[in-house]
Amino acid sequence: MDISSILQGGYQHPLSRSWQGRRTLTKSMLMYPIFITDDPDARVEIKSLPGQCRWGVNKLEEFLGPLVKKGLKSVILFGVPLKCNKDEKGTPADDPEGPVILAIKKLRTLYPDLYIACDVCLCEYTSHGHCGFLNPDGTIDIEPSVTRIAQVALSYAKAGAHCVAPSDMMDGRIKAIKRALIDGGYGNRCTLMSYSAKFASALYGPFRDAAGSAPAFGDRKCYQLPPAAKGLARRAITRDVNEGADIIMVKPSLPYLDIIADAAELAPDHPLACYQVSGEYAMVCAGAAAGVYDLRVMAFETVESMVRAGATLILTYFTPQFLDWLEA
Ligand SMILES: [Zn+2]
Repeated sequence: MDISSILQGGYQHPLSRSWQGRRTLTKSMLMYPIFITDDPDARVEIKSLPGQCRWGVNKLEEFLGPLVKKGLKSVILFGVPLKCNKDEKGTPADDPEGPVILAIKKLRTLYPDLYIACDVCLCEYTSHGHCGFLNPDGTIDIEPSVTRIAQVALSYAKAGAHCVAPSDMMDGRIKAIKRALIDGGYGNRCTLMSYSAKFASALYGPFRDAAGSAPAFGDRKCYQLPPAAKGLARRAITRDVNEGADIIMVKPSLPYLDIIADAAELAPDHPLACYQVSGEYAMVCAGAAAGVYDLRVMAFETVESMVRAGATLILTYFTPQFLDWLEA
């Protein structure tokens, strides 16, 4: 056999197998998405997302305390208001007594070392369930939407969020948020993570159950990207880098590994996040429950594929398990 044919000598030992990745998955690469609702004592299981709950602010210590002890480094908060008065402009999004702002303050006090990111969008707070303001014909009214989204982001920064992450996909919102953070005195105190390439995916179903955020009419296809749109995704990533994003995100992850690899090439000097979304998580859990594969092996395989594609930060509901599974 030719010398060049032999590869197996290089990875015959568990340790030498571990050296084959360019980057190794660590606990600090994981960000845990959590749902905060406006009943302060809530702990409500989300059926379509096994093991995940909607939490009230008073329950955060019991929920996150053990995870912080195991090495949880960061969370991303999603507000799930069930009692507020939603309106056309998403007024409750930055209510100082709303669940997200209360949770930021509580977590900053409880866990000074925990990194707190906040999803920023209007759809959980608008009466119509869309991510921006609407024109009379039902299309998005871009300018006021972006202004309002930037206002909400600044409110979260002021409450103490280390990072704001707009998921709305409105054109121009990264520039508007960056400007608002700088003008508000938070330019050097708050990170801007852009959901740059967010695709219109079938994998958001369980999240919509969890967040109660299905739009009242229509869908979000006018602002989320079509699954085949590699070129659009690349343009959105480049645009967001130019508009001042500090972190680029691709969402969902597993069906879009090529886009993650593209983002790594287009924005090589930025941290690169990907979101293993609710449907991906539910799919891995369902396959394991059906005996198709071992949960742990499959969870590692999916997340390591994202690291291999170039991700340096992974938003995943498997974070609590990985804190048990990973050594560091
Ligand atoms: Zn939205």
